[in-house]
Amino acid sequence: MRKRYLTCVDCHEKHFDVDLASLAKASAVRPLLYECPCCGGILQVGYEEDENPGTDLDKKSGKGAVSAVFSDFCDTDLTGMWRYKAFLPVEDKKNIVTLGEGMTALVRAERIYRDLGIENLYVKNEFSNPTASFKDRPTSVGISVAKECGADTVAVASTGNAGVAVAAYAAKAGMKSIVCAPKNTAKGKIAQLLAYGANIFYVDGNYSDCFGMVKEACAEYGYVNLTSTYVNPYTVEADKTVAYELYEQLGGRVPEWIVVPIGTGPLLSGVWRGYQELKALGFIDKLPRMVGVQAANCSPIAKAFYNHQEVRSETETEYTIAGGIADQLVGYEKDGEFTIRQIRESGGDCIMLTEEELFKCWHELCFKEGVFSEPAGAAAVGAVRKLCANPAFHKDDVIVSLVTAHGLKYPDLPNRLENKAVVVTGAKELRVEAGE
Ligand SMILES: *Cc1c(COP(=O)(O)O)cnc(C)c1O
Repeated sequence: MRKRYLTCVDCHEKHFDVDLASLAKASAVRPLLYECPCCGGILQVGYEEDENPGTDLDKKSGKGAVSAVFSDFCDTDLTGMWRYKAFLPVEDKKNIVTLGEGMTALVRAERIYRDLGIENLYVKNEFSNPTASFKDRPTSVGISVAKECGADTVAVASTGNAGVAVAAYAAKAGMKSIVCAPKNTAKGKIAQLLAYGANIFYVDGNYSDCFGMVKEACAEYGYVNLTSTYVNPYTVEADKTVAYELYEQLGGRVPEWIVVPIGTGPLLSGVWRGYQELKALGFIDKLPRMVGVQAANCSPIAKAFYNHQEVRSETETEYTIAGGIADQLVGYEKDGEFTIRQIRESGGDCIMLTEEELFKCWHELCFKEGVFSEPAGAAAVGAVRKLCANPAFHKDDVIVSLVTAHGLKYPDLPNRLENKAVVVTGAKELRVEAGE
């Protein structure tokens, strides 16, 4: 049977996960490891064949067998992201909690950057996941592992989307969810939390305040922590599936650039790892450059990247419409360092957008491409205009922007636009000016 383990990204110490056979007999909830017991570093999942070393992944890979194809790795009994179960940390299918996440559309954006001569920009519409954000991927894996552990309550610190996903998947699994979010969380997200029946706790503070409280509460009450930073090593694994999907959707072609909105950065790191795995298995021979995007009003990672400095958490951040990526990193600055390490390793870049730029790209993406995203998601497309200044950028490069969440999460935002709607009484009045 395949055995999973955890390694520390800093001291590389290996920690074996409890084996699943003995787990089945245990009655109590198994506590998960959230950081390296040796040095406090970030943990990552690894996989090992324990009885028959070199079977499964190795044997099927390009290394030994000459004519391996990627679809050999896909589990055809399963749908969506779970087709890639061979790369995910859940062994027994009966523990999978799914609402059909993954396999999101990849759409070419032909109009938005016509002025720049960019023709190979694709948006991956992650908002077509079941709760309308990509957070359904990490949450589906996280809840499945929690189920495997016998958990009955899961908790999450969130600016909204992760909380919404946890609430939905907990409902599906019959677990209780504790969602801790800043008081000013976007309206659409709150509506979803209420609908899914989460136990909602507002904090009169920012995301980092929620993060600290949930971490403490999990230690105190034994909840499984599904916070979407690097705390839960299992959830991050799911973000690799974006890379496998892109590999299939682009017919094996590796994009030159993948642009990802980042709070702490697990999505970016996960996609990067997915591509590294594809390369290690011999399916691709080059890697994409990873580009992180932050809102200027809360950008500890982008600032450290630009200034070649250590990541400094931000205690006094201003409001941003890109709430989904507003992470101050207070107390877990090292997570930001880890994300920067991945970006640099890939030869990538990090981009900041002002509130004005965020609003502009959000709006443009709506009326030029028909893609209604929450501003944090649109930032992945907005950043492309600035990416052009990178010396490694060519305008015929293939770029993929991950549009991470749906616009209905912020139902009030379109009210900032001029509303020319009129009440009419007859067909004659239904006239518009000629032109675009
Ligand atoms: C969570 C989130 C991201 C990325 O977050 P990371 O946790 O840093 O990977 C991007 N966009 C939206 C809308 C999000 O909710």
